[in-house]
Amino acid sequence: MSALPERPPAGTAGPTDATGRPRSGRGPRAGATPASALDHLWLHFTDHSAYPDGSGPPVIVSGEGARIRDSAGRTYLDALAGLFVVQAGHGRGELAEAAAAQARDLAYFPLWSHAHPSAVELAERLTEHTPAGLDRVFFTTGGGEAVESAWKLAKQYWRICGRPGKHKVLSRAVAYHGTTQGALSITGIPALKQMFEPLVPGAFHVPNTNIYRAPEHLRHDPEAFGIWAADRIEEAIQFEGPETVAAIFLEPVQNAGGCFPAPPGYFDRVRAICDRYDVLMVSDEVICAFGRTGGMFACTGMGYVPDIITCAKGMTSGYSPIGAMIVNGRLFEPFRTGRGMFAHGYTFGGHPVSAAVALANLDLFEREGLIDHVREQAPAFRATLERLRDLPVVGDIRGEGFFYGIELVKDTSTRQSFDEAECERILRGYLSPALFDAGLYCRADDRGDPVIQLAPPLIVGQAEFDEMEGILRSVLARVPEML
Ligand code: PLP
Repeated sequence: MSALPERPPAGTAGPTDATGRPRSGRGPRAGATPASALDHLWLHFTDHSAYPDGSGPPVIVSGEGARIRDSAGRTYLDALAGLFVVQAGHGRGELAEAAAAQARDLAYFPLWSHAHPSAVELAERLTEHTPAGLDRVFFTTGGGEAVESAWKLAKQYWRICGRPGKHKVLSRAVAYHGTTQGALSITGIPALKQMFEPLVPGAFHVPNTNIYRAPEHLRHDPEAFGIWAADRIEEAIQFEGPETVAAIFLEPVQNAGGCFPAPPGYFDRVRAICDRYDVLMVSDEVICAFGRTGGMFACTGMGYVPDIITCAKGMTSGYSPIGAMIVNGRLFEPFRTGRGMFAHGYTFGGHPVSAAVALANLDLFEREGLIDHVREQAPAFRATLERLRDLPVVGDIRGEGFFYGIELVKDTSTRQSFDEAECERILRGYLSPALFDAGLYCRADDRGDPVIQLAPPLIVGQAEFDEMEGILRSVLARVPEML
């Protein structure tokens, strides 16, 4: 894989950015500091009371490769690719230039009864990588919209097929699928939903594939656990009534809860169950696509064929927002032949600039062999993280490709987790700031059991794996003192 081009050394904030390049547009934005960030900005998923007077969130001003730099001039290893997004790394001039070129040609046009070349080409390019049959692309601006679109499509598709009762959806416990009301209903994290009830009715949840927390008798038998977990889906379909279930949403590797890969045989069995009951299988690849787990689309590498793929994040490596719902042609057929119109869309869905950047990103993936790089380096990444198992708080290390979760426990022999107060003290009070101060941007999360999530840009190698392990080791070693 080729190295990133050399850049001039970092300068101070001013007319150039932190990598020494002249800043285009409206000139320097040197005024943003952690304190001023709180004057008017409302941060997402953020407890604003957590900032004592005069402090504020880190302000990230620039990035280069796998490094980011804050307004105080400190650099960090970006071990989360922003938010599972920046596959190609930061500071890629060619992606910025693709955006500029498209904006000059045609900055905007909607995909409402019109097309533009970038969307046409991108739809074609994406379907070169999808499993056979998934050849129709509906663009959105992000992942939650893709999930929302998939539920709406599933409802309308079954209605057109004369089965209007099929409107319910299934998904898995602790899974995150987005924040719009439909996607939030599909999300399986009660704490994110309660304040917004009543949500869209008809979303039901089944167990996820966390074998570390599986019933005792299944913990050491992945095949049996896979059968057990898939059969919970069949049970839920039968319980709700097959004539009422439209679709199931599953991530190839579930992110929330800390990277749950599927046990062997699981997806084959889920596919067979979906076929048996006419339930559409949606592979929510908002995180897993575009190389994250070692394939352009994760389902192809894992050997299953969904009816719908939802994707976003890494499609442009974050240089411009876009998402997509990619469907099997048979789901499009009734719409193609005039039996219905999908009365659904977004002003910015498939935005020309984003579509052009996505095309340039796909070119970059091919030219630099990013997917092969992930496949080749994944065993080394895993082996490096496995070294952390000697720490008394590391309960489990799991994931795939460049996508890992490290579950923290109070007692590795009993798998006892931390209670809520301990989580607060350890995750938010200690780990998040300590890891960041030590130069590692990643995520300490407790939407399920407490985990550290790692998903670096796909350009990293052994040097960065060692750096992550070293920082995690020094910070995690001190957790017992915090109890
Ligand atoms: N689906 C999955 C699996 C996700 O991980 C996410 C976001 O992290 C979403 C959907 C929602 O995507 P977005 O934040 O782009 O709306």
